[in-house]
Amino acid sequence: MSHLPQRPDWHCRACREDWPCLGARADLLTEYANTRPSLGMYLAAQMMDAVLDLGHPLDAAMYDRFLSWVRPREPKPAWLAPTPRQSYSRRDIVQRAQQILDTHVRLPATGLCAACGADRCPRRAGAIRILYSRYGRLRCG
Ligand SMILES: [Zn+2]
Ligand SMILES: [Zn+2]
Repeated sequence: MSHLPQRPDWHCRACREDWPCLGARADLLTEYANTRPSLGMYLAAQMMDAVLDLGHPLDAAMYDRFLSWVRPREPKPAWLAPTPRQSYSRRDIVQRAQQILDTHVRLPATGLCAACGADRCPRRAGAIRILYSRYGRLRCG
């Protein structure tokens, strides 16, 4: 079975990966070896269909999936919305650091970390650095 898209979920019919899967990419690059611009147009059309089928925004992630691998050296067009990065609030960061300090405790008997057993626990050191520096004062428990 060849690597063709299954609509409307845009999985590969052969390997069930997101289409175009690695198999499809290899097939297409071979098929369009001498007509690379046509491959770009074909994939742009497929991308538009996928966006409509999936109800997915036309963003950098979709561009990566459908087009970036065709001409890898070309920069992404500026009109594409950037893929949103997960952002953490100051409170999330302080809370996470506090959690690390609560579990990665230095055992008085051995001086080793209770959670990971390290002599100088890097996670504890990182959490202390976060709490002291940008994100607030260390609250000792
Ligand atoms: Zn496939
Ligand atoms: Zn530790």
